[in-house]
Amino acid sequence: MPTVALSSPQAACWPNWFPSSSPSSEPTPTKIGGLFPSPRRDGLVTPRTSGRNERGGRWRIIQAGIAGCGQCIRGQAEIVGSPLNVGEIPDPPTTVDVVFVGVAPTSLNGRHKGRHFWSNVNDPLRIGLFSVLDGLLESQLRAVNGRSKSAADDDFRARRLFFIHSCKVRPVPGELRAPPEAVVASCARRHLVDEIIAIRPRAVCFLGHNTAPAAALLGLSIDGRIATANVRSETGEWNGYGVATVQPVRGAEKRTALAVRRLFAELGGLTAHHS
Ligand SMILES: [Zn+2]
Repeated sequence: MPTVALSSPQAACWPNWFPSSSPSSEPTPTKIGGLFPSPRRDGLVTPRTSGRNERGGRWRIIQAGIAGCGQCIRGQAEIVGSPLNVGEIPDPPTTVDVVFVGVAPTSLNGRHKGRHFWSNVNDPLRIGLFSVLDGLLESQLRAVNGRSKSAADDDFRARRLFFIHSCKVRPVPGELRAPPEAVVASCARRHLVDEIIAIRPRAVCFLGHNTAPAAALLGLSIDGRIATANVRSETGEWNGYGVATVQPVRGAEKRTALAVRRLFAELGGLTAHHS
């Protein structure tokens, strides 16, 4: 098993990992559903410690930086535009086990009009990811999503899962599925790296071949293999587990599910190791 140096804030979260009714039960690495607690409102409460408040402040500063950034679209307004606005991505849970990382919001002139995982209840990646998670966690995210987008958002985050984009700007032409590689790489270096350092997830999971330039910044390639990942910037550093795989859309769902299952199993093994 790969070893991961856990920072103390992550270690401090262990007592909350299991349902309070069975704090000392030994997890079984293969029983994935039991490792991810059912949605609990306390996963979304306002941070109590100064460290967590500091993290929330950093997150909001990063979001404002993305919204006001002209660098990622400079000189190529016909190709990419419309950076994510403040509030388009909700605040992350105080504890994040896995942050899923997509490519970018959809094309401004395409079928989905620049919308994305957090803004379109029928976003194909959202539906695909919820289906994969329902198959692994005994959750009902797709059914909940069918009734209420905000309830599904809350359920997803209460499971200590989160979603962000590699690239924060939208392709402009309708036929462009993703920003150019160079834009993904430079935007991810400018914004995504700091987001991951601020969120401090236990693991990252990149979804889609077009995330490759961003995944590479963490030492990951799109091969579905679980690896130790790390990244560093002026704001700090992060290390944990990582995997990069295909998007759970257009028939690739099983491939995504296999990689995510492996990642969850690896996290379960880590939990057992520390319990
Ligand atoms: Zn930017």
